[in-house]
Amino acid sequence: MNKIDLLFDKKHIWHPYESITGESNCFLVTSAKGIFLKLSNGKKIIDGMSSWWSAIHGYNNKKLNNALYTQIKKMSHVMFGGITHKPAILLCRQLLKITPKNLDCIFLADSGSVAIEIAIKMILQYWSSLKINKKKFLTIKNSYHGDTFFATSVSDPINSCHKIYNNIIPKNIFAESPTLSFNDIWNDIDFKSFKDLIYKNQNKIAGVILEPIVQGAGGMKFYHPNYLKNVRKLCNLYKIPLIIDEIATGFGRTGKLFASEHANISGDILCIGKALTAGTLTLSAVLTTRHIADVISNGKSKCFMHGPTYMGNPLACAVANENIKILKKNKWKNKVKKIERELKKNLKNLSNHPKVSNIRVLGAIGVVECIYPIKIKEMQNFFVKNNIWLKPFRNLIYTTPAYIIDKDSLKKITQVIALSLDTENFIYNNKNLTF
Ligand SMILES: *Cc1c(COP(=O)(O)O)cnc(C)c1O
Repeated sequence: MNKIDLLFDKKHIWHPYESITGESNCFLVTSAKGIFLKLSNGKKIIDGMSSWWSAIHGYNNKKLNNALYTQIKKMSHVMFGGITHKPAILLCRQLLKITPKNLDCIFLADSGSVAIEIAIKMILQYWSSLKINKKKFLTIKNSYHGDTFFATSVSDPINSCHKIYNNIIPKNIFAESPTLSFNDIWNDIDFKSFKDLIYKNQNKIAGVILEPIVQGAGGMKFYHPNYLKNVRKLCNLYKIPLIIDEIATGFGRTGKLFASEHANISGDILCIGKALTAGTLTLSAVLTTRHIADVISNGKSKCFMHGPTYMGNPLACAVANENIKILKKNKWKNKVKKIERELKKNLKNLSNHPKVSNIRVLGAIGVVECIYPIKIKEMQNFFVKNNIWLKPFRNLIYTTPAYIIDKDSLKKITQVIALSLDTENFIYNNKNLTF
């Protein structure tokens, strides 16, 4: 039966960034608990991904489940137009408490990419309310902000396949990606490209959008906090609003509750998603300043023109609330610190490996950058055979485990990564291969 299901899946169902006729096979997962995924053949594997940064407390968490049960008995959903409810109010109260003080107004949205669209619209409506014509956004290469059209237009032009949508997506402005890493000694040269571009285009630029400190799906790079500090300074100088995309980094992943805390800065707009519901339901939020909200509301259109059907979904809000409660109680900071320490220790040996060009760790993120692209399917099969779950991309193997992961399981993940590099040839020997 499982085989038939898998064949159906392969023939009819699209998976992220896959061809429907392609080579890759999916693994059938039947349940998930704690840090484990259970496969249809009964095998339990250690999850090193936490479902793309989101399941920070592990799977099937009792408290999160209970929050859902309690809410579902009252109502799963009710429209947000003209109606409000306690789960949304409680969540927004909590969000205002844990985010920077300058942020005061919240728009609840359905996914990370949609949050980015909303943030962009807020800024466009802000300038149009002021009757100022500014439409371009400045960002940096290797960024990733999602897969909807405008989000793609501010994601890396090469990684996010701008060519496919040539002439359809808006043309934005890209500074060179920072080259100095989180722990390097700062040098202003790293900021030159951004500085020149913002100066040159100051009258065109409506907003700046950045992932703070960690460039995620665009290359898993950790850049220097001074870069972010300088961005904030120049945005202030030129009065350009700054969108901070904490969709991946939010809720403790980098060792701070929000990664922008590494640079002690705050955006004028903050986008959060992924771990907001701790990997249970899709929900995102866009927070902005009273000033931006007021300008939009006093403008010609008065209203902010966005309103998803499932906006403020009570189930998602209730479980997000519980997520924040758990975070507050369970010493996430110590857990992330421990993961950071262990990852650094365990991955150190790989830094001289001939197939590896760089090892980096920040908070609960461990990255092994290979010199050439990875044979993804083969490596993934090897990982599962060895009882772990990771999803490498391009030349990057990375882990973003749940904060509850124990020392031994974490060690197992890094051991299997090392084994995959030592015993098998999962790395192409040519950097020019497309991937
Ligand atoms: C995942 C991600 C998004 C997009 O979120 P989705 O929920 O997948 O649409 C946007 N920005 C960053 C930084 C992300 O990591």
